[in-house]
Amino acid sequence: MKIAIVGAGLAGLCAAHGLLEAGAGDITVFEHREGPGLETSHANGALLHPSAVDPWNSPGILRFLLTNLGNERSPVLLRLRALPSLLGWGTRFVRESSPGRHRAHTLANVHLALRSVQLMAGLREQGLEYGAAQRGSISIYRDASAFAMGQEQARWLQSHGVPSRVLSRDELLAMEPAIEPVAATLAGAWHNERDESGDAYRFCQALGARLASRGVVFRWNTAVEALLAERGAGRGAARETLRGLRLAGGREESFDAVVLAAAWWSVTLAAPVGLNLPVRPAKGYSLTLTLPADGPQPRTPILDNGLHIAVVPVVGGRLRVAGTAEFCGEDRRIDPGRIGNLRQLLLQVYPALAEQAARVPMQEWTGLRPMCADGKPLIGATRVAGLYLNTGHGQIGWTTGAASGELLAAAVMRQPPPIDAAPFLPARFGL
Ligand SMILES: Cc1cc2nc3c(=O)[nH]c(=O)nc-3n(C[C@H](O)[C@H](O)[C@H](O)COP(=O)(O)OP(=O)(O)OC[C@H]3O[C@@H](n4cnc5c(N)ncnc54)[C@H](O)[C@@H]3O)c2cc1C
Repeated sequence: MKIAIVGAGLAGLCAAHGLLEAGAGDITVFEHREGPGLETSHANGALLHPSAVDPWNSPGILRFLLTNLGNERSPVLLRLRALPSLLGWGTRFVRESSPGRHRAHTLANVHLALRSVQLMAGLREQGLEYGAAQRGSISIYRDASAFAMGQEQARWLQSHGVPSRVLSRDELLAMEPAIEPVAATLAGAWHNERDESGDAYRFCQALGARLASRGVVFRWNTAVEALLAERGAGRGAARETLRGLRLAGGREESFDAVVLAAAWWSVTLAAPVGLNLPVRPAKGYSLTLTLPADGPQPRTPILDNGLHIAVVPVVGGRLRVAGTAEFCGEDRRIDPGRIGNLRQLLLQVYPALAEQAARVPMQEWTGLRPMCADGKPLIGATRVAGLYLNTGHGQIGWTTGAASGELLAAAVMRQPPPIDAAPFLPARFGL
């Protein structure tokens, strides 16, 4: 079977890996950038976090968004100009936020994340190097009622295989001495034992190289312009069947199966074949700082639930802070206001970094998380025969990438899925 994958971010690369492992032989990856992992997978929060895979449309999200409409300091910001593009998607986003649905979606993501963590361990054993660290992460809380609510959630997660434990102040400081200046102001903290970290860009580079050495063909600087589909003949006549791709410049190529893993850009490619993907971009920012030797050296990832940021040590003596979500359409400009905000938030976690942060340049980055309306990725076959999706991973694409590739491969190769595939099937949206 001749298989094309569109996109060489985490979703596309993991799909290629899953397919190879499942026995597929003829795989071509089309990527419109000059190498792997140069878009959303580039400088993300670097955290694989089975402890925090709950969709962002938690109960009460609508009120939160409306209260914070246009508030530049809000961690989740809805821009008025983006509203028209969010109408249908937004209705679904809110509809899926009832407590029952939100919990079911969270649980599905937990299963995907735990499977991913297992697969990542296997990749490391095979020598894949991406600056991985298995120190877990520490969730910190500044507010007693949020801590109590968070603990309830943590207990529920424990009963589903995601271990965590509350940390005393001494245990917290033993695990992360650099947090000492703010420790007295915290309402509580716990350790998420299964969380891990790693540089997603390094992973994309390493996995890309390994796939190429195993025969996967990469076509860099090659944008896919359109999916080519036609009405099937005979019994399946009512069903569209994919026959290939048209590349920028007009050249057409035939494939038996196409995997769309082009993040938010998948929406534009899928629309002409009649698939309205419920995926919209949620812009986020990160800052990466090379830690000077004369300052604090954080070593354990911190999730600050009040500030909605992750502060994660990354390979090469760097510290990354990532967070904020902005529903603003496809706007990829770096807004100095949002960057300034993120910088301030970092200093609320590590005030002792203030002097270094002023002296050492920080790398500023923004990416568009491909958010699916129900907070779970779209993985599997569509109603267009031969067209498969691996997209819509939103804020959890690093955490769920490996398992999503495996699940996708099972669908393409018609093999039994390693975990329950139903919650992720595109068919749940009639796709
Ligand atoms: C600020 C921020 C922090 C984050 N932190 C975390 C985290 O800590 N943990 C976590 O689990 N997740 C995190 N995420 C989410 C995670 O990074 C994403 O879910 C993931 O990168 C999505 O991967 P992808 O392959 O779908 O998208 P991408 O990496 O964007 O890959 C899609 C690829 O498709 C290519 N493409 C698009 N259109 C075409 C076309 N027409 N033809 C050919 N190629 C095309 C693009 O060039 C791109 O390379 C974060 C995201 C952001 C923005």
